Amino acid sequence: MRDLIRKQVLVTGGAGFLGSHLCEQLIGNGHDVLCLDNFFTGTRDNIIHLMENPRFELMRHDITFPLYVEVDEIYNLACPASPIHYQHDPVQTTKTSVHGAINVLGLAKRLGAKIMQASTSEVYGDPQVHPQTEDYWGHVNPIGYRSCYDEGKRCAETLFFDYRRQHDIRIKVARIFNTYGPRMHPNDGRVVSNFIVQALTGQPITIYGDGSQTRSFCYVDDLVDGFLRLMDSPDEFTGPVNIGNPVDLTMIELAEEILALTGSESRIKYEPLPTDDPVQRKPDISLASTELGWQPRTDRREGLGKTIAYFDNLLTRQG
Ligand code: NAD
Ligand code: UDP
Ligand code: UDP
Repeated sequence: MRDLIRKQVLVTGGAGFLGSHLCEQLIGNGHDVLCLDNFFTGTRDNIIHLMENPRFELMRHDITFPLYVEVDEIYNLACPASPIHYQHDPVQTTKTSVHGAINVLGLAKRLGAKIMQASTSEVYGDPQVHPQTEDYWGHVNPIGYRSCYDEGKRCAETLFFDYRRQHDIRIKVARIFNTYGPRMHPNDGRVVSNFIVQALTGQPITIYGDGSQTRSFCYVDDLVDGFLRLMDSPDEFTGPVNIGNPVDLTMIELAEEILALTGSESRIKYEPLPTDDPVQRKPDISLASTELGWQPRTDRREGLGKTIAYFDNLLTRQG
């Protein structure tokens, strides 16, 4: 057990991909978890195995509305994360980031609770500095299709730091880079889930653009370990801190790796690149390494193997 003190922890977006793994780990560490979600992209299936646990409580609530609960720590993850989902209702996406941040910060202020924001590498936009360090201010289109998400998350960061300066709230800001693992949505359009589902079902692998764009992928267990270390770090350490895997690859390389791991004979099909799709992205994780003693430990083949097994099982169950 990482922490001997039993805490009451709120996880907003707790029924989502990352949130469900975080809830599981917090319960494993002996804490009580209040999982809040409006089920926009999250599902009960992600947390069904926790429902009978007396330390776990589920609350259906939209974070854009105030909430009055009593907790010691807050992880604010509520926000759709994949472009298909966050562009479905862009105004609601911005409200979720901005009104949501105000509400959880107001809650943290009333309770004196420590609070972590799930920010994103998207705050760097289509970066002109590579790899990205936390002091880079980014290159973000304020009026494009991705802006509801990117600018919403940027404004949430602003609110976190203003609540710290104005009200002395204990804040932590994690800038999460692309993460993958079991419980990703099969249909949310993200590259790892798309390629795996396509490979397993014999459909063409859809590469957007010429496939030379790069990303780096962090396995979910490593990311959750980073969250917990960040929350446990000294109060003076607020971040923002990059949490992600620094090993990058092109989307063609990723497709080939997934084809090899699944033994699939799917062919590769090229499709147009979405607007504002970043050309390259890779975290500099020196700060997380120095301040949190954190670095990803899961090799990509191992992580992809576990993710492929998850989707294989899911597709078999769905028939
Ligand atoms: P996800 O879509 O699986 O989870 C988000 C959860 O928030 C879902 O359960 C959804 O139902 C819930 N939610 C959305 N709007 C809400 C609202 N208004 N009120 C209450 N709940 C709401 O996405 P994820 O991949 O688990 O991402 C979790 C967080 O991490 C997000 O804030 C996302 O921006 C951030 N993030 C994720 C990644 C990644 O690669 N997965 C990368 C960068 C940042
Ligand atoms: N809030 C909440 N729960 C709380 C306290 C506050 O949801 O326990 C919300 C409430 O909507 C409030 C917002 O957080 O408007 C910001 O709170 P703050 O105290 O910063 O400002 P207020 O608007 O109350 O002056
Ligand atoms: N991508 C792709 N084929 C797909 C889905 C995505 O080539 O079926 C590309 C996408 O254009 C982007 C990269 O993969 O360059 C990562 O996309 P994702 O949506 O997973 O994350 P993000 O763009 O937020 O990094």
